[in-house]
Amino acid sequence: MKEQLRSISPYQPGKPIEEVKKEFGLEKVIKLASNENPFGSSPKAIEAMNAAIKDVAVYPDGHATELRQALSHLHGLSEDQFIFSNGLDELIHMLSHSILEKGSNTVTADITFSSYKIAAQIEGAEIKEVPLIKGRFDLQGILEAIDENTGIVWICNPNNPTGDILYKDEFEIFLEKVPPHVVVVSDEAYYEYVAHKDYPDTIKYLERFPNLVIMRTFSKAYGLAGLRIGYGMADANLIKALEPVRQPFNASRIAQKAAIAALDDHAFIDMAVQKTHEGLDQYYTFCEEYGLHYFQSYANFILIDFNTSGEEVFNYLLPRGFIVRVGVAKGMPNTVRITIGSKEENEAIINCLKGFLDEQK
Ligand SMILES: *Cc1c(COP(=O)(O)O)cnc(C)c1O
Repeated sequence: MKEQLRSISPYQPGKPIEEVKKEFGLEKVIKLASNENPFGSSPKAIEAMNAAIKDVAVYPDGHATELRQALSHLHGLSEDQFIFSNGLDELIHMLSHSILEKGSNTVTADITFSSYKIAAQIEGAEIKEVPLIKGRFDLQGILEAIDENTGIVWICNPNNPTGDILYKDEFEIFLEKVPPHVVVVSDEAYYEYVAHKDYPDTIKYLERFPNLVIMRTFSKAYGLAGLRIGYGMADANLIKALEPVRQPFNASRIAQKAAIAALDDHAFIDMAVQKTHEGLDQYYTFCEEYGLHYFQSYANFILIDFNTSGEEVFNYLLPRGFIVRVGVAKGMPNTVRITIGSKEENEAIINCLKGFLDEQK
């Protein structure tokens, strides 16, 4: 084994529903832990998957031609500016594997998506974690942390787990200042949920910044987390350089077909986004009523500070049939991250949380 593997703590996924049902003898369990889409998937995607099943004896198109063409058309980029992956998690590993090594480093925030760190550790690279400022990336601090050995800077926008965003002006100035030998990754897993006029349209920057990689996924708003498909967009030369680390058939036949259909189902995305915004308001109202500190969120989750151990909140909710996420915000042990569910799911968990908080009084 590589020496560095001994010190890595593997990614901690949210508890699976089946396990919790069995453990507590529950018939119904609501999982709001992994930012999945509570409204399911696009019916058009499901139809496309059903149709694709008959062909699974045959390997998928390794070039994902049809999906590539659809996205090229949608984003106004050329077809050689895309790379597909088995979820963004795989792309994070592909980028790290291509760029990072012993003696190099990667820069990101201290409280952000944990896969960046794990992928860098596997490559034996150093990780520089710049503390968030009020839940947001400290771009000035990140610039100061960059040196001649920096390979990748990870920007999570909106940031998981705080949910806040960076604005176009500050991000553009940042890109101008990052030295050209550093790859900047803009992880936009929650892109579809963001409703803010100053959220950057980073695709416009690709022409000016050949060191920029944009990541998008079908796992969140598109409701296809179980399928595993995401993609990166960048300068064609950068994409070409990544190709050797990509496994030839990493995006499955069914995933490619579903993604193409999902892209066209605007009604489903609009519904999911709209209901998520309404759901966020349910949580804001609750937090204000109970005087809890929370982070304003532009994604499909909310990080709430319960003024008491988040673990305790988790342990109260679990036997009552709710799975949430704790331990995602290092140094903030009182926080819990909750995925925005359907109106009824939100109501149910908020009622349960009220029970917990009233008992604490
Ligand atoms: C969920 C998530 C991903 C991973 O998405 P997959 O495409 O399902 O692998 C990447 N980045 C962030 C910030 C996420 O929250």
